[in-house]
Amino acid sequence: MKPKQIFLLLMGLVLVQAGFSVAQPKLKIYLSADMEGLAGVVSGEQLGPTGFEYQRFREFMTQEVNTAIDAAFKAGATEILVSDSHGNGQNLLIEKLPKNVTVVRSWPRPLMMMQGIDATFDGVIFIGYHTGTTNPAGIRAHTMSSANLADVKLNGVSVPEAGINAAIAGHFNVPVIMISGDDAICKEASAMLGNIETATVKWAYGFHSARTLTPEAACDLIREKVTKAVQRIRDFKPYKVPAPVQLEIRFKNYRPSEVLSYLSIVERTDAHSIKFVGKDMIEVSKFCEFVLTYEPGLNP
Ligand SMILES: [Zn+2]
Repeated sequence: MKPKQIFLLLMGLVLVQAGFSVAQPKLKIYLSADMEGLAGVVSGEQLGPTGFEYQRFREFMTQEVNTAIDAAFKAGATEILVSDSHGNGQNLLIEKLPKNVTVVRSWPRPLMMMQGIDATFDGVIFIGYHTGTTNPAGIRAHTMSSANLADVKLNGVSVPEAGINAAIAGHFNVPVIMISGDDAICKEASAMLGNIETATVKWAYGFHSARTLTPEAACDLIREKVTKAVQRIRDFKPYKVPAPVQLEIRFKNYRPSEVLSYLSIVERTDAHSIKFVGKDMIEVSKFCEFVLTYEPGLNP
């Protein structure tokens, strides 16, 4: 080897040692997965441990999430955090997820369906999402609790879970880049969040009926849309809700609003409704999680 070649080789080694030549730019993705918006889901039979199709739909949920993970890594993601954000928070078959992701499971958690998000992330993907409780369209349309809540507003605007979760990500300046679900949530999320990538995996006829893609076709579409979203990740803007954030919750029943109004931080605005003002989306998220999960018999 000539002296010049030896010099270049040594310089190369120095650069590799310093981490210059081979380091891939960091690109962190947060993936929040729900179930109502998966291909094929039309009723409670697919959504919880007592449903006759639940175990199979845990497989389908895992497949849709794995497809999104694989597409995101192939498009340049370097780190992915997955949130199991449906029902008991223990739906994903974690032994079938790749080794290079970590998973958020179970409840309660202060940032709800976005637990673990922070300012180091570059983009958010929603898989299996559904419309909010004030939308007359959409499979299993509800916001946070189908049994208990009739409306959730941020600064006067009714929002679906995708809106609340986008606002939590927006607090950290992280944009939503892609959503999958039925046609109704894809339309609602586009109107609210701008030109994000959407994968419509089914078309709602009603609360419990739809025309759906098969799981395999849904995965093909999710792969295509996640790839596009990660490739143009710099195009998306965070969804910022101006602080302080006014949260209004309308309950289906009377007593939650009655009892919550005992707290001086809560105002009862009508028989079924309360208002809370949080200094930011973090306070609002913690308040929501408290309202949804607290009961004095909590054990342990
Ligand atoms: Zn759900």
